[in-house]
Amino acid sequence: MPTAQTPLADIFRRLIRSTGPISLTQYMGESNARYYAGKDPLGAAEGGGDFITAPEISQMFGELIGLWLADIWIRSGRGDPVHYVELGPGRGTLAKDALRAMRGYGVEPQVHFVETSPALKDLQRAAVPGAIWHDDLSTVPQDGPILLVANEFCDALPIRQLVRAADGWRERMVGLKDDELVFVSGSQDMTAAVPKDRRDQPEGTIIETCPAAAAVMDEVAGRLADRSGAALFIDYGYATARTGSTFQAVRGHAKLPPLAAPGEADLTALVDFAMLSSVAQSCGAHHCGTITQGKWLRAMGIEARADALSKSAPHHADAIAVAMDRLIGDDQMGDLFKVMALTGPGWPEAVGFDGP
Ligand code: SAH
Repeated sequence: MPTAQTPLADIFRRLIRSTGPISLTQYMGESNARYYAGKDPLGAAEGGGDFITAPEISQMFGELIGLWLADIWIRSGRGDPVHYVELGPGRGTLAKDALRAMRGYGVEPQVHFVETSPALKDLQRAAVPGAIWHDDLSTVPQDGPILLVANEFCDALPIRQLVRAADGWRERMVGLKDDELVFVSGSQDMTAAVPKDRRDQPEGTIIETCPAAAAVMDEVAGRLADRSGAALFIDYGYATARTGSTFQAVRGHAKLPPLAAPGEADLTALVDFAMLSSVAQSCGAHHCGTITQGKWLRAMGIEARADALSKSAPHHADAIAVAMDRLIGDDQMGDLFKVMALTGPGWPEAVGFDGP
């Protein structure tokens, strides 16, 4: 019998041998569930970390998010009770910094975390005492507006890929060759699943979709439309439709083949912001815009904030400058990462966006 300690690759092999290839959605979903359940992957390689995220680079990131949320909630008329909701809060660092900044403006929301990993929940409890945990948005109270943040959440949700074969479109799946996990094409014709205007492509073309991210967006935007509020989705991704696989695995700050170590590496794909904003708008939310992280953090005043921090701690000035450059530099996180803002109907214009 497989146990929790059985390597996931062995479980997948057994499954594929008995029932045939599995979908990429199943492969990625089960791999990331196992991966996040048991460990805190954030931090430098020397400390055993696999990757680092913006809130772990500098407190300025969470503070400016808190400032944005406090500002828009105050200008919207202070609907109460108000709920701070974070999807996949990691170590709770972003929430801690954002809530501190919000308190500075007299904004003290109830705190709700959507998180499935027991290991990370323990860290979140230490960072933000008093938070309430949820498996999904459905149990977050419906009695007031939400101020929602999702940083590097959607990129970890399971994707699906369709590949153009000689005779139509097929699902890209995970099968076995000489007992190694390999990509294979499904036997079913999936042409009907590809929009008509995207079907005519050279053989081998891959179209990637993320139904799980669309489902999350459907829920968030529906809540914004019904109960109002504002949401920020931040992730590495693209704002216009594209083709090709962006599926990747990272362990110890290095890339490895995505089928090499299921459950032991972080599996991600770039986020399709064009799809997310179209789902959001179809559910009745207002899309304030999607811009690069560098542009948004500059518009929020990160340079002035870095100056102020450096003046109060001159011996940290160099480290603060390096951290700011990591967050906004075009060759670092500034360009690849995008910030998308959504609001409920009738909410005021959002700071930092030039409009949709
Ligand atoms: N937002 C944090 C952590 C990003 S890592 C930061 O910026 O540092 C991804 C986070 O999403 C982790 O907290 C992980 O446990 C969580 N997560 C991944 N898939 C999830 C899922 N399907 N449901 C809920 N949480 C999930």
